[in-house]
Amino acid sequence: MSFRLGNVDGRAVLVRGDHYVDVEVASSGQLGADVRQLLAETEVLAALDAQIDADPESFELTAVAGATFGPPVANPSQVFAVGLNYRKHAEEGGMAIPEVPLVFTKFASAIAGPFADVELRSDVCDYEGELVVVIGAGGRDIPPGEAWNRVAGLCVGQDISDRAVQMAASPPQFSLGKSFDTFGPIGPLIVSPDSFDDPCALRITTDINGDVRQDDTTADLIFDIPTLVSYLSHIATLRPGDLIFTGTPGGVGAPTGAFLRDGDVITTTIEGIGTMSNRCVRIGDHPDADTVPAGWRAAWKASIGDD
Ligand code: ZN
Repeated sequence: MSFRLGNVDGRAVLVRGDHYVDVEVASSGQLGADVRQLLAETEVLAALDAQIDADPESFELTAVAGATFGPPVANPSQVFAVGLNYRKHAEEGGMAIPEVPLVFTKFASAIAGPFADVELRSDVCDYEGELVVVIGAGGRDIPPGEAWNRVAGLCVGQDISDRAVQMAASPPQFSLGKSFDTFGPIGPLIVSPDSFDDPCALRITTDINGDVRQDDTTADLIFDIPTLVSYLSHIATLRPGDLIFTGTPGGVGAPTGAFLRDGDVITTTIEGIGTMSNRCVRIGDHPDADTVPAGWRAAWKASIGDD
């Protein structure tokens, strides 16, 4: 009862191999075109997918090639993100392994498509390839053992970060530096958890112009998906289509100064989900573009009080 759900021209589509079907058309109008509404009842979506499986001839199939996929959730009500959630990334920042999740938010306005341009406004913007959890039924006070039942699926994401703005204030506040327009590409599809042999151990890679910078497995997560869903749901009611960026593995650009440049292409792949490709475009300067802390590592350490 698995499914792969995407967004083509603002309409929900089920992707099957190299073709897709429009959900509203395929269901004769019983289901709508809005992805967020569909995520509240993913079993209905899975049932439609099974119907198509049983009799593909009677559905209108369109080739994936040539279609423009947008962000699978274009307008989430909440976007959470977790810092320092891979052991290697915490270590490269010189940090102790956190005992509670380091959570910040990205604004929904930062969400962009899986093949959208990323617009840079300084020379210290960084990539962070991440597994993104897409909430399904959601809810409040969800026990860890129930968490997967409240998740619609997983997608690929980039938590693009302007390190100058991230570290501009003291103490730092991550949300703005990670919420420039286009700083949250996600996609290409939402893949249901039951599609994976083990949704908790997926290879994740980020390369820049073909040069592999990040290569890890989500099995290295310090706080796993059930823990994060449960933790957040005890604070905020989780709603269909809400997103959790689960943190990035080691290999980000900041420690070595390998930041994103105009024309760079970021390729992010997660096993069993797919690949995003985002081109960087340097569109201008923002007021904090020159206020990079002398030592990113020192500022980062100071930001969580670890000296
Ligand atoms: Zn991140």
